[in-house]
Amino acid sequence: MSETIFSKILRGEIPCHRVYEDALVLAFMDINPIAPGHTLVIPKEARATLAELSDDSAAAIGRVLPRICRAVMQATGATAYNVLQNNGVGAHQAVFHVHFHVIPKVAPSGPGSGLGITWPVTKPSSEELAAMAQRIAATLAASPA
Ligand code: 5GP
Repeated sequence: MSETIFSKILRGEIPCHRVYEDALVLAFMDINPIAPGHTLVIPKEARATLAELSDDSAAAIGRVLPRICRAVMQATGATAYNVLQNNGVGAHQAVFHVHFHVIPKVAPSGPGSGLGITWPVTKPSSEELAAMAQRIAATLAASPA
């Protein structure tokens, strides 16, 4: 369990600008948007990171996320967007309750333009990729759904 500012929003103890709610999911405007329409989609289940989330909550978010993306794009007129989901301090997570950012991309750069990304490419060999794939696949096989 993780008690965060989003727990208070879910309990109605602090307000939010809600755009969607069902039994398992809430979506609302980010209080400090990096683009107009920046929306947060959260499970009602209090878990810090995606890997800890139940299958039911994950499925509920998966079902509604494309529809919320379509609505944000239609409402803002944006034609490009990012869906961002941070896990852990090292990955820029600040609120330790799972959340998906839906962020319209409205200009190449600058305040309010949306997400800026650096993409530090590396060039592993085919053998290195194969070894990593084997490790991940073996871990998955050992922990079935
Ligand atoms: P993170 O860095 O954890 O992926 O993003 C957390 C997000 O939550 C930030 O974009 C931040 O603006 C947003 N946020 C933090 N506190 C509140 C709040 O009280 N209300 C709303 N609506 N958003 C919040």
